[in-house]
Amino acid sequence: MSKKYIATPSRTKELLNKYSFAFKKSLGQNFLIDVNVLENIIHQAGITKESGAIEIGPGMGALTEQLAIHADKVVAFEIDQRLLPILEETLADYDNVEIIHHDILKANVEEVIRTHFEEGQDIHVVANLPYYITTPILMKLVRDQLPVTSLTVMIQKEVADRMAAVPNTKSYGSLSIAVQYYTEASVVLNVPKQVFMPQPNVDSSVLKLVMRKEPPVQVDNVDFFFELIQASFAQRRKTLRNNLNRFLQDKFAKQQIETFLENAAIDGGRRGETLTMEEFSSLANVIHKELPKN
Ligand code: SAM
Repeated sequence: MSKKYIATPSRTKELLNKYSFAFKKSLGQNFLIDVNVLENIIHQAGITKESGAIEIGPGMGALTEQLAIHADKVVAFEIDQRLLPILEETLADYDNVEIIHHDILKANVEEVIRTHFEEGQDIHVVANLPYYITTPILMKLVRDQLPVTSLTVMIQKEVADRMAAVPNTKSYGSLSIAVQYYTEASVVLNVPKQVFMPQPNVDSSVLKLVMRKEPPVQVDNVDFFFELIQASFAQRRKTLRNNLNRFLQDKFAKQQIETFLENAAIDGGRRGETLTMEEFSSLANVIHKELPKN
């Protein structure tokens, strides 16, 4: 194909010069310059000609262009006003792209979905995320239980590993459970620094999150469940018993906490990182029933 994609070093440099564009580190601006990586991301996301795509941070349009080619429609949120005229030029050939100048953390994504996509359309979030707000963005999108099928995102490798981690590993923690309560998480690609301009200081991976229709465990009170999990990892090297005693000291005597552990069939001498989500949910439900009201 003779067309020169945006995601090439030469075209990217050309645009940087033409618009005297200076990258803003504070906005996590590391643009992709490799079409193969982009096509791989889109393939992993499961995008088809019928799909709707939501992108966060189109930058100069590298991924947006590939989404426009492979999907039915693309809606992209960009916070940096300086990129709007550039996107107008780079995406001029595509009539299935809508750019929204808005901070994704403040956007009403559900309303945008309702306005821009067909009812019941298969929608996927696909993005090379600004790394400084990876976790707030993903937690907002998964917690809001948006009508999307999956989220496939380039993020720091370390965060991707934590989100997809299983018990008894170094990466497993409260973030793993928070993400996996709402989604099925897997790392689908590790990406070298050379595919970005400028190159980031950290390694990157593509994480795929498939939204669950139902939570994988039954939890009586979701807020308390997550509080308990946070507390269980508060001091990773300490036992679960120790972390729980500290977390619940104002509410229960130590003996009562031992009874909770027994009733949930969990050995208090274990560390938080060995507990499965099922075990955390049993423990949370046992304790929540006995919590003093107010
Ligand atoms: N998608 C482009 C690419 O792959 O070449 C750019 C990705 S770059 C890692 C992240 C993009 O997110 C930048 O364009 C940045 O301006 C934008 N961004 C940063 N914070 C944002 C926010 N809160 N809401 C929307 N976009 C944001």
